[in-house]
Amino acid sequence: MSSILKQRLEGLKVSDIMIPAEKVAHVQIGNPVEHALLVLVESGYSSVPVLDLDYKYKGTIAKTPILKSVIGMERFEMERLSDIKVEGVMHKDQPTIKQDTDFLTALKVVIDHAFACVVDNENFFVGILTRRAILKEVNKTLYIEQS
Ligand code: AMP
Repeated sequence: MSSILKQRLEGLKVSDIMIPAEKVAHVQIGNPVEHALLVLVESGYSSVPVLDLDYKYKGTIAKTPILKSVIGMERFEMERLSDIKVEGVMHKDQPTIKQDTDFLTALKVVIDHAFACVVDNENFFVGILTRRAILKEVNKTLYIEQS
């Protein structure tokens, strides 16, 4: 890739390509996992951010750990979904990024995660950066190079 195209990607910031918080489906940390599963199934996303009541980032929650939490001896004990809280099942160690994180650093984060949560300096949730958004920019840049 030419240095001009590399510069194009290096010049992009997370804030240029992220999905803003108001357009992101999320769940509250104190909700039962039943509610989280509803959000996940209805939205079609496999994982969404978990926030507290102040809109601070706490983690992410996915369908598979929710379903694993209600596996019984012979069946899914779905009646337990209302007793288990999101906090007990969510992932707490996902890396976060900032709005001014550069493109190439963000790209490395989404190699291992389908999306990265974007937070401000006080950990307030401001949006997500998806693999799709990163791939779109890489594709655009490669297309510029070919034309
Ligand atoms: P994508 O790269 O578009 O396939 O998105 C990767 C992942 O990001 C999805 O599987 C979801 O877990 C999450 N995601 C994307 N868009 C949203 C959204 N608007 N609200 C919540 N989660 C989202």
